[in-house]
Amino acid sequence: MQSLTGKVSTDMLSVLVVEDELTLAQTIELYLRKEGYKTERAADGEKALAIWRAFKPDLVILDIGLPRIDGLEVLKRIRAESNVPVIMLTARAEEVDELLGLGLGADDYIIKPASARKLMARVKTVLRRDRSEEQKQVLRMSEIELDTYAVQVTVSSDPVSLTPTEFRLLQHLMQTPGRAISRLELLEVSMPESEAYERAVDIHMTNLRRKLKEAGASDMIHTVRGLGYRIQD
Ligand code: CA
Repeated sequence: MQSLTGKVSTDMLSVLVVEDELTLAQTIELYLRKEGYKTERAADGEKALAIWRAFKPDLVILDIGLPRIDGLEVLKRIRAESNVPVIMLTARAEEVDELLGLGLGADDYIIKPASARKLMARVKTVLRRDRSEEQKQVLRMSEIELDTYAVQVTVSSDPVSLTPTEFRLLQHLMQTPGRAISRLELLEVSMPESEAYERAVDIHMTNLRRKLKEAGASDMIHTVRGLGYRIQD
């Protein structure tokens, strides 16, 4: 739960940049540092995992095409242990579709080449989403409890480990129980400015439902055909 346990806001946020194109990696680092982030860099998947474990960054920017262990495998291994926000760098738009199909739970996708300004905007959005100073609010629906301030979800008082995107989706559903919410609206609240498609919402929603179910919650999230989702007790 490292990514959801909000540190004090005066901490410098840290970003791990995983990219084997040296010039691109250095450019991204330069921009991140100008914005006041701490950075680490890895040029292959194996090193990325080692640095990630040692350095516990607040965010990972992860290229897909990497030597040794590719970006997808790196994401898979990170997700097995952590909900740290991950922005994937992809070389082709079609790769986003393939990624979505895998349902690995990346928080955003950027198609290269992307301007540094655009990338920085995404970084800020993802990190703000992760640790935003939300109003103190506890939402409850039967055995599910969502604390917007602690950024924590429990089922029958046991914490459930969600990614930032899954958390935002559940929060948005629980704010208006019974209301049918379109995929587009859910995409906008959970992954604003993202290049992800509405289908990304389905993938994250599938993961969210599975996690809630595994935690013992009754399935209250319903698919609204042709539109999106609603939560109902
Ligand atoms: Ca590459």
